[in-house]
Amino acid sequence: MSFQNPVFIPGPTNIPEVVRKACDMPTVDHRSPIFGRILHPARANVQKVLKSDSAHVFIFPSTGTGGWETAITNTLSPGDTVLIARNGMFSHRWIDMCQRFGLDVQVVETPWGHGIPADRFEEILTGDKGKAIKAVLATHNETATGVVSDIGAIRRAMDAADHPALLLVDGVSSIGSMDFQFDAWGVDVAVTGSQKGFMLPAGLAIVGFSDKARGSVEMAQLKRTFFDIRDMEKAYANNAYPYTPAVGLMNGLLISSHMLLDEGLDNVFARHRRIASGVRAAVAAWGLNLCAVSDDVQSDTVSAIVTPEGFNATDIVTHAADAYGVAFGVGLGEVAGKVFRIGHLGSLTDVMTLSGIATAEMCMADLGLDIPLGSGVAAAQKAFMVGANAKMKAAAQ
Ligand SMILES: *Cc1c(COP(=O)(O)O)cnc(C)c1O
Repeated sequence: MSFQNPVFIPGPTNIPEVVRKACDMPTVDHRSPIFGRILHPARANVQKVLKSDSAHVFIFPSTGTGGWETAITNTLSPGDTVLIARNGMFSHRWIDMCQRFGLDVQVVETPWGHGIPADRFEEILTGDKGKAIKAVLATHNETATGVVSDIGAIRRAMDAADHPALLLVDGVSSIGSMDFQFDAWGVDVAVTGSQKGFMLPAGLAIVGFSDKARGSVEMAQLKRTFFDIRDMEKAYANNAYPYTPAVGLMNGLLISSHMLLDEGLDNVFARHRRIASGVRAAVAAWGLNLCAVSDDVQSDTVSAIVTPEGFNATDIVTHAADAYGVAFGVGLGEVAGKVFRIGHLGSLTDVMTLSGIATAEMCMADLGLDIPLGSGVAAAQKAFMVGANAKMKAAAQ
């Protein structure tokens, strides 16, 4: 692997130089006001990235998985029923965690490549006359399949059923790269990690709680100690943590969240959409298909590309690393060996993306697939030129 090449895995993502430097801090007293000057603005920035005016933001030394645990243990009790679709490896892992915590998990099996079926959720919630379902869990962006689901539609399904369940959303591979509307979608808990849209090394679980979710913590009986948001809240009031925070990463988060807000969230999302459109144009030019079955569920942060029958897609990933020092993502779970993934979230430009597309072409050609060199690159170039020209025109006006 070369340290000079960008990575094209869907997390951890490329770290901008200023963010890497911001993480490199001398030791500071984490109980001093100095730490408060990192902690509080970083939390305020995260709230803005979530598009929320009121979310309670907590940042744990952990990863996205710890964020899942924070979401469920602070809101639910053993035996509670939760509703969730399984449409990829990440929703599968969240289901597994819920089961291990002794929750009664009502799983809607959904073919991989499809989004969460909001209409099916509405039927189930409408049928739940006794309001046994305490939470609806949703993976906004299935990183395994490159599928984005419509969280607003899930909220509408819950409202149409007049159902009081909490809405817990895994936004690990969407928040900070694709539009996420905590307030407008009525999200109760949002979960992400530092190493995806926030462009940092792994090491932080970042969660937002609505007032309603915050209010449910007193009743929630699942065991929690490290992830108890009440301990965190008390400590925040004194510029501190209940334990030792990852100060360098928090400082990195302050800078990276500022970068996102400074670029403008809608510009960040438009950049990801444009980059994704270039990747999708390349895939079409190669004559290949995405795992995502339709346009409306294609993710702007990761593309899972289906390789021809009888070909082991993982060979592309291994060969790219060995021959060209470039990292792509392997297929996971049900789609292992059937897809390889190009991650395009976080700190990435059109130009960087062209290098990834070019490398994928070289690998596929090396491995005997009938992919004309330059075909995907040319298709992506066209998509990027359209985007750039539109931007220039808008700026000239
Ligand atoms: C990466 C990812 C996770 C897991 O996060 P970790 O930080 O590895 O614990 C969970 N959900 C989704 C959708 C992800 O992409």
